[in-house]
Amino acid sequence: MPLLGAHLSIAGGFYRAVEAAAELGMDTVQVFTNSPSQWSVGPDPANAPRPLAEADTTRFRDSLARLRIAQPIAHSSYLINLGSSQSSIWERSLRALKVELERAEQLGIRGVVLHPGAAAGGSDEQAMENIVRGLDELHAALPEIQARVLLENTAGQGSCLGWRFEQLAELIGRVSAPDRLGVCFDTCHAFAAGYPLATRRDFLATFREFDRLVGIERLEAMHLNDSKRELGSRVDRHEHIGRGKIGSDAFSHILRDKRFRDLPMYLETPKGEHEGEAWDAINLRLLRELAA
Ligand SMILES: [Zn+2]
Ligand SMILES: [Zn+2]
Repeated sequence: MPLLGAHLSIAGGFYRAVEAAAELGMDTVQVFTNSPSQWSVGPDPANAPRPLAEADTTRFRDSLARLRIAQPIAHSSYLINLGSSQSSIWERSLRALKVELERAEQLGIRGVVLHPGAAAGGSDEQAMENIVRGLDELHAALPEIQARVLLENTAGQGSCLGWRFEQLAELIGRVSAPDRLGVCFDTCHAFAAGYPLATRRDFLATFREFDRLVGIERLEAMHLNDSKRELGSRVDRHEHIGRGKIGSDAFSHILRDKRFRDLPMYLETPKGEHEGEAWDAINLRLLRELAA
């Protein structure tokens, strides 16, 4: 049975996400290492951000051990765009991503999920080159670090790359240290990008394609989200499990597949409550039912 968790808030301290995960009966948790919509680094490279306080990272690690929350991962800031051809944005993105990996390392987090990047006005080919160069510089700047970048497949909204499995494969194939990269598979993004998952036949075909191009062995995490929008819409809108266009069958196929047995899987579905119960609790319960 895969480890199940959700993306949870670090408001009040990193350990709060761990406590919330335990209260919800989860096995694992995903967090941001800083505000996702604010830069962790200023425009001027001379001003380095402050490292995390040791009291905060220790409390996070202690809570994980005490509450038996395993394999925590981090999701990087949405502002980071290694695909940018604007040197000020690309350079700032690289510094911000470096900070994210350093923070993850301090927190004892192994995987940092990254949307590969967007062309944002430039060509796709140039953006791919920018991303490869960014990942190579990141790896060169952090030779000893355990924390790894997990490239996430995207919905292909706007000029975002990484929605085709071919693009993920190309990025991994072109970096100097491919073994320092893993992949996080998001069900909503894959479906929005045009990969069907609902019938057993579609599910098997989609993962056969993923395995052929990227490799199942590169999968280190999954994001379990239903989709508000239809197959191939290329619009990234997450929905509660079983209440979107993907439907609950797809999650049952994934959760029962032996190849994914040891993977951590995270909900990134909408927050809030339904009939007095947290949506995260409702979605988690449904996943456990679908896995049984
Ligand atoms: Zn995701
Ligand atoms: Zn998304």
